[in-house]
Amino acid sequence: MDAPYKRLLLKLSGEQLAGKFEGGIDAELGAWLAKEIKKVVEEGTQVVIMVGGGNFARGAQLAGHGIKRVTADHIGMLGTMMNALALTDIFESQGVATRCLSSIFAEQVAEPFIHRLANKHLEKGRVVIAAGGIGRPYLTTDTAAVSLALELDCDVVMKATKVDGVYDKDPAKFEDAKKLDRVTYQQAVEDNAIKVMDKAAMGLALEHKLPIVVFDAMQPDNILKAMHGETVGTTISN
Ligand code: UDP
Repeated sequence: MDAPYKRLLLKLSGEQLAGKFEGGIDAELGAWLAKEIKKVVEEGTQVVIMVGGGNFARGAQLAGHGIKRVTADHIGMLGTMMNALALTDIFESQGVATRCLSSIFAEQVAEPFIHRLANKHLEKGRVVIAAGGIGRPYLTTDTAAVSLALELDCDVVMKATKVDGVYDKDPAKFEDAKKLDRVTYQQAVEDNAIKVMDKAAMGLALEHKLPIVVFDAMQPDNILKAMHGETVGTTISN
């Protein structure tokens, strides 16, 4: 089957990158992920990855006791940078051409995020890993993911989560919780039980009709299946 997506953005949280560990990065998992991404790239789909930083710091949690919110967010962004750098090396070690582009000034460690440069890398078939979110405080990498997907004309945002999609109620609490194959933006924004992405991210996706697939990326071939448009999680669209 032909891939319906020419270019996709995969959002990975820091917690996922920590894998079997409490914090930091699970390099073994990173290598597994590289092989999964390789299958997608080999089919000609261009891949952008937005990494979170929650395995190191989250601004909203860190702020306080003298640490300003802006500083806490800077620390959070540096956390995403650590993930992006590690993942870039891991991907390249697995034969996946990858570039880390940073939205915070960090010339010694990564290329700057420049729109044309990102496009050039993607057109050459390289995976682009975004570091530093969108580079501004008071945001999360979910919002940064939607913003970057719009900027780079991605066809879809694939948001990797621990559960395999959106449920009508919390599957951890209710045995009879049902997975929903499709959810509208409106439902995702209005229903407080649906907490897959923050409202700012969802609002931006809604405004620009950018589809979001919420799925478990850590299952074999799930990224490839999602790329083929197979139902592997929940699609949030009109
Ligand atoms: N952050 C930010 N601006 C951005 C992206 C991230 O200030 O554009 C900060 C924010 O403090 C956030 C932290 O970086 O909490 C780590 O990102 P996030 O919480 O989204 O990571 P995840 O939960 O996905 O691991």
